[in-house]
Amino acid sequence: MNHDDLNHWSKRAADWAQGYHGGLRNRPVRAALIPGAIAAQLPAAAPEAAEPMETIFADFERIVPDGMTHWQHPRFFAYFPANASPASMLAEQLANAIAAQGMLWQTSPAATEMEQVMIGWLRGALGLPADFTGTIHDSATTATLSAVLTMREAALAFSGNIKGLSGLPRLRLYASAQTHSSVDKAARVAGIGQDNLVKVATDTDFAMDPAALDAAIRADKAAGYLPAGVILCAGGTSIGAFDAIAACIKVAHAHNLPVHVDAAWAGSAMICPEFRHLWAGIEDADSLVFNPHKWLGAQFDCAVQFLRDPTAQVKTLGLRPTYLETAGREEIVNFNEWTVPLGRRFRALKLWFTLRAYGLDGLRARIRNHVAWAAEARDALAALPRIQITSEPRLSLFSFALPTDAETEALLNRINDDGRIYLTQTRHLGRYVIRVQVGQFDCTREDVMMIPTVVAELAG
Ligand code: PLP
Repeated sequence: MNHDDLNHWSKRAADWAQGYHGGLRNRPVRAALIPGAIAAQLPAAAPEAAEPMETIFADFERIVPDGMTHWQHPRFFAYFPANASPASMLAEQLANAIAAQGMLWQTSPAATEMEQVMIGWLRGALGLPADFTGTIHDSATTATLSAVLTMREAALAFSGNIKGLSGLPRLRLYASAQTHSSVDKAARVAGIGQDNLVKVATDTDFAMDPAALDAAIRADKAAGYLPAGVILCAGGTSIGAFDAIAACIKVAHAHNLPVHVDAAWAGSAMICPEFRHLWAGIEDADSLVFNPHKWLGAQFDCAVQFLRDPTAQVKTLGLRPTYLETAGREEIVNFNEWTVPLGRRFRALKLWFTLRAYGLDGLRARIRNHVAWAAEARDALAALPRIQITSEPRLSLFSFALPTDAETEALLNRINDDGRIYLTQTRHLGRYVIRVQVGQFDCTREDVMMIPTVVAELAG
């Protein structure tokens, strides 16, 4: 396989992709396989001799597509979306063709500079303050880990990275139980420990109670702990909970604690001004992550972290050995110093393509449709016998259940075995419930209204 062959096979791949996407509605959304079925079709060892691409491509077509859950299927309503707009796919092909590694400005100036400009475009699109800067990570998990590592180091006057954590005061972090498990992972991986992630009480709307946050911080200080930071949730994974961002930031800042906000899913919706009341006060956050790879259409992986001031994060994560020095250009940004990994993909390109190919208006129209169609689907489900709405729509996410957990789980299995739609579960107020999120880039109202149709058929 050489570059001339690559040209031929890239065209074949593009044709295949067109057929694949065009035919998605005819496929079950979730892979209908028993574990091991795909591995059983693959040889146990790599071939010694080169194989013709014709054979490899034919095997791909035979084995892989039926072994996938189709995230770009217009009736994918599970988890949160991982949208890949066609423009984003094209940008990824180009980034793949260049195959650069953007760890330093000088290893790919266009990648670094486009990343800076895209951060500015998104900052404006989301209505964030002009002094926010930022960077692109692979995932929200990594962005949150970076923020938590920075909280740790800032609390320890930057001694943890150098001396290790033993013998230092016990650090504390604060978040509600509605935050994503990536916050728990960050507390663990940062060496702070799960037990030192205080789960602050929420109010009847599942938002962190600012008074409870204040009380928890005071109690910890009195007990000799060292509070390090607060992680707030803007659109939680389970039922889409939003913390009271303004009030909680006020409490945190009164204690001189930095605040990171996880808006991995809901952040994209903030390109629509009418939804911004949900995160009112966001302009005072110190760090904020949202995933354009979820709802915006810049395909996985693409997680944007905004920072009020990158100094502490760069001081925490940046290392500059001689082999990474950029002689005479110390003023330029080397984004590896802002993130955990050294190597970096050219992720800004797909943002550039996506934002231009659809325009903010086009992207807003999609998100507004999703929110409106989710409300319609909610009402249609609520009208069905024995179906209970267990959490009301937050943007385009809500949940429902049958009267018992066993019945709900059995219904979910029937729905996903049927294959026309794909839904997943969560636990809410002690109950096993079915989540519905509407957000797939190409879904139509008819696709969404297939949810009550399928549930009506299978709930009986
Ligand atoms: N935060 C929230 C609210 C999420 O819903 C998710 C994943 O769905 C994450 C963080 C983790 O995202 P990532 O897969 O980008 O690490």
